[in-house]
Amino acid sequence: MSDERDARRAWFEQACVGLHDRYASLQDGEPASYIPELAEVDPDRFAIAAMTVQGERIGVGDCDHEFTIQSISKLLLYGLALETHGRERVLERVGVAPTGDAFNAIELDEATNRAPNPMVNAGAIAITDMVAGATVDERVETMRAMYERYLGRTPTIDRTVWASERETGNRNRAIAYLMLSRGIIEDRVEETLDLYFAQCSVLVTAHDLALIGATIANHGVHPLTGEQVVPREVTRDMLTVALTCGMYDYAGEWAFSVGIPAKSGVGGGILGMLPGVGGLATFSPRLDDIGNSVRGLRVFEQLSHHFDLHLFDPDRPWTR
Ligand code: GLU
Repeated sequence: MSDERDARRAWFEQACVGLHDRYASLQDGEPASYIPELAEVDPDRFAIAAMTVQGERIGVGDCDHEFTIQSISKLLLYGLALETHGRERVLERVGVAPTGDAFNAIELDEATNRAPNPMVNAGAIAITDMVAGATVDERVETMRAMYERYLGRTPTIDRTVWASERETGNRNRAIAYLMLSRGIIEDRVEETLDLYFAQCSVLVTAHDLALIGATIANHGVHPLTGEQVVPREVTRDMLTVALTCGMYDYAGEWAFSVGIPAKSGVGGGILGMLPGVGGLATFSPRLDDIGNSVRGLRVFEQLSHHFDLHLFDPDRPWTR
C-alpha cells in the first residue's frame, strides 16, 4: 500500500471514530416494533464499517454484532434474479420506478401490471418468486448459496424472527395474493412468502455489510476471494436501483444529499456502495418514521460531505 493510501485510510478511520463518538449519544427514533424480536434489540448498539475494493477493512463500534439483514436482502435477491433470468424477464414483472410510498404499500404499477420496483415489498416478493429451484428445498438452497458467496460462510437465519415474520406477515400476504391475482407471481404464495421471510431473517454484521458493499462496488468481484460473486453487468442495475429506490421513500433526498447507492433495512443496517472504491455500512437500530436508521443517516451524510463521496461530486476521489 502506498503512503498516500495509508494516510487516506488513517484519515477516514479517524473520521469514523469521531462520528461514532459524536452520534453515540443521539437517541432519536425507535427500533422497529412490528414484531417483538425487533423491538427487543439493544437500541444503543452502533457500528460503522468500511471495506475498500482492495479488501482493506475499517471498523468502529459493534461491527461484529449480528442483526437481521431485513430489506437489504432485496438488493442481493434482485442481483440473483437478474443473473438467473436476465434483465428483460425481470423487467416483465418488476419495474424500476421509485414510488414515494411506504415500502409495504399494497400497490402495483397498474399501467404495466408489474410491481413498481424491487426495493419495495411487492417487487421483492415478485423477485423472490423468481428464485430458481424445482422444490422449496432447492429454492432455499439457491438462496443459501447466494448468501454464502457474498459472506464466505453459510448464512445463519434467526429462526425466531423468521417465525414471527411468518406469523404476522399478513400485509405481505395481501401484496402477494394481489400479485397472484394479476398473474405476476406463480401459484405458490405461501412458499414464496416463507422464502421472502427467510431472506429477511439472515443474520449479518456491519463488517459483513461492508464486505457485500465492497463486492458490488468492485463490479461483483469479491475483494478477498477474487470470486465473481455476481456478474459485472448486473452490478450496474443493482447500483442504479439502490440509488433511486434503496432508502424507502427518503430515496430522493438521500440521492440529493448523500449520493451513495445504498439500501437500508428495518433491522437498523444501511449498506452503501461506492463504485470502484468500496463498501460502507452502518448499524444502529433506532429508526426514523420512514424506517431508516437515524444515526446511520447522519454518519452517511457526514462522510459523504467530508470526503466528497457523492457519486456526482466533481471532486469525488479515490476511484481507480
Ligand atoms: N421483513 C420486513 C417486511 O417484509 C422487511 C422490512 C424492511 O426491512 O423494510 O415487512
